[in-house]
Order: sequence, then structure tokens, then C-alpha cells
Amino acid sequence: MQEMYREMGISPKVYEYGEKVLSGLKERFSKIDETAEYNQMKVIRAMQKCRVSAECFQSSTGYGYNDMGRETLEAVYADFFHTESALVRPQITCGTHAIAAAIAANLLPGDELLSISGKPYDTLEEVIGIRPCPGSLAEYGITYAQVDLLPDGSFDLEGIRRAIKPNTKMVEIQRSKGYLPRPTLSVEQIGQAIACVKSVRSDIICMVDNCYGEFVETMEPTDVGADLMAGSLIKNPGGGLAPIGGYIVGKEELVDRAAYRLTTPGLGKEVGATLGVNRSFFQGFFLGPVVTANALKGAVFAAGIYEKLGFDVVPDGKEPRYDIIQAITFHDPAKVIAFCRGIQAAAPVDSYVTPEPWAMPGYDSDVIMAAGAFIQGSSIELSADGPIKPPYAVYFQGGLTWPHAKLGILMSLQKLYEEGLVDLK
Ligand SMILES: *Cc1c(COP(=O)(O)O)cnc(C)c1O
Repeated sequence: MQEMYREMGISPKVYEYGEKVLSGLKERFSKIDETAEYNQMKVIRAMQKCRVSAECFQSSTGYGYNDMGRETLEAVYADFFHTESALVRPQITCGTHAIAAAIAANLLPGDELLSISGKPYDTLEEVIGIRPCPGSLAEYGITYAQVDLLPDGSFDLEGIRRAIKPNTKMVEIQRSKGYLPRPTLSVEQIGQAIACVKSVRSDIICMVDNCYGEFVETMEPTDVGADLMAGSLIKNPGGGLAPIGGYIVGKEELVDRAAYRLTTPGLGKEVGATLGVNRSFFQGFFLGPVVTANALKGAVFAAGIYEKLGFDVVPDGKEPRYDIIQAITFHDPAKVIAFCRGIQAAAPVDSYVTPEPWAMPGYDSDVIMAAGAFIQGSSIELSADGPIKPPYAVYFQGGLTWPHAKLGILMSLQKLYEEGLVDLK
């Protein structure tokens, strides 16, 4: 084994350092496997109940009326997430689109959207109009308010009660930390916050941004009261196979409105050709629990290594995990760059390119990104990015297989080691 790693460019010292860390992770890994096992059953049960058949993998074109595969897949999602309805479409271009459609479809002029998990994901700022953009909710007279999480990362239940106004129509909760230095919210915590909102007014729509959270726990936010939830298929639930897409699940009336928003009033869910993606959506959802477990093992391994080296890691090697993102703070741009170059060098695709920091649109500093993915931008595949600004943190996620995630992390350490940026004692 060590010889194979040496051929891949991992020196014995780095390999042994990794093995030492790994030997302490057996219990963590078996917990992760247990969750995957449970969720695998849940997926298979849903597929059996909905009578998934070979006909479901056929494709439609044009209007896409009566696409059996699409309709069955949506039934599978609704069954898995325990919701009345689901919308799972390649016409949903990304996670932001899914979340935006779910939110915008269910708010009318004069309504207020209240985020209770602090600032939402960057791309939603323009959707809401926190940063002005044509077509934002703000332009349509939908107001926005926000309750920040408490310093310990938990919900500010008192603040939430106070912030609810007569025109508060929807509460938005972001499960994952995204790229903010705060803890990710557990399904249990989300349930408590929803109960708090509903105790003030039971008709407030509780909407969850579930990106990066699917399959990480045995329950999902829709099991603890979420009325509406959305996510991306090039993250966990696409299992690495979905080439595009997003999903929206929840109460039928709310999902129907999202469908009318996505296509048009009148047409709703009835149109939307699947253009050959049905099989990859089904098979990706089937693989999702184990793929998510593989990514989680990579994140835990990275936390273990970089924590042992003395860097700040969020979450740390022992904390419970509620999403697949790992943050490592290096306080040194050279280390961020070396880390990302290691992730790139271990990729099955584009391993020979050297990532460089650049001024990406939408960011206020140079950013370096590493990804060698089969699906462009897929972040369930092993990928890392680091804004080149203090505190010089790198965010890392994904890994379709655990051995690849392991190689990627060892390669990141190898690059740091070769440049004399870490001391492997
Ligand atoms: C990825 C992500 C989004 C947006 O998804 P895109 O597919 O990049 O548009 C929204 N919220 C969270 C928490 C995410 O991680």
C-alpha cells in the first residue's frame, strides 16, 4: 500500500502521519457508516414503495407531459423526505435557483421574509435584495428581516419571538454553515426553532435551505416541522451522478406554487422534459447516502490531521457533524495555496493543472479553487476553495469515494510538507 502511495507522490512520512490519525478515527467512521446504512434503507424503501421500474429511466422531450420517470422520482423524494409533494427537475439550475423559487413563489408584495439563522448564503443576498439586483424580492415589495444566531451558534429563540411581525409570512433557516465560521445546525435544533416560530403563529411557513445536509443525519428538517425545503442535486442528493438539478419538497400547496413559479401559472408541474437525466437522478439518489458518508469521512480525516498540526478546524475532529463542509484556518496564504494544489493534484480529472488565486466575480478578494470533477462545479466531488484574505481559511468538501478523499487530503499535506510549511513530528 505504502508503495502505491509513494508512486502517487505521497512520501512515507506523510503516509505514516495519516495512518496515525486514522487509527484514532475507527469509532467515528463506524458511526458514519451506520447513518449511511440507515439512510440507504430509507432510499430503497422509498424506491420500492413507489415501484421504480426500468421504464422510469426513459426520457421525454418537448413539453415533457406525463413523464413517468419524473413523476415517480418526485414521489420517491416526497416519500424519503416525508412530505406531501416534491419537485425534482433538471430545469432547476442550481441550489440557489431551488431556494429562490421556493421562497419567491410563496411570498407576495407586503409579506416579510425572516431569516432566523443569520445572514443567508451569499448568492441569496441578491435574490432577497440585501444587495440590490433586478428582479429581487425587494423590488416586488417583499421585506426582509434577520435574527442572528447567538455567539455560541444556537438559535436566539427570544429574538425570533420578538422579530415575528403580523406580516411575517415565511421564516428561512439555513442548515449548513455554508462558508461562514459558525456551527452547522442539527436537525434537532432546527426542530426546536420551528416549534418556537409555530408557537407564535402556526401559519408562518418554515422553509429550510438543506444544501450539504442531506443524508448526514437519519432525520431531515421535514421530519421536525419544516413546511418547505430545497437543495441542489450537484451536492449530496445527486450522489455525484446528477449532471444538474435541484429539488423542492414540502406541503403540496407550497410546492405547487414553486412549480408555477418555475414554469408558469397554469402549467406548473405538468411540463418539463427530462432529456435523459432520469436514470442519473434515480441512481444518484440511490448512491447518495454512501457518497455523503465518504465525503464525511474525508472531512473528519482532514479535521484530524490539521488539528493535530495545530491549526484551527471547524468542526473539530470530535464534534458531531451536520454537513459535509470542513473549514481549516491557516493564517497564511502560502498554506491555503499549497493545500488547494494538493487537492487538485489528487483529482481524477485535471490533475495536471495548477490552481492560481484570481479575482472571481462576486467575491471581494482573490480566491483559489481546486476541483477536478466529472460534473462542473459539483461540490459533492472533492473540492476546496480559499479566499486569499485573513484569516486565510480553506473550505473543503466532498469526495465521491473515501479512498479518493483520503488521497486528496494526504496530497494536501504532502504539498505543505514539501514546501516546509508544516512540521510532521
Ligand atoms: C451551495 C449552497 C447554496 C447554493 O447552491 P448553488 O448550487 O451554489 O447555487 C445555498 N445554500 C447553501 C448553504 C449552500 O451550501
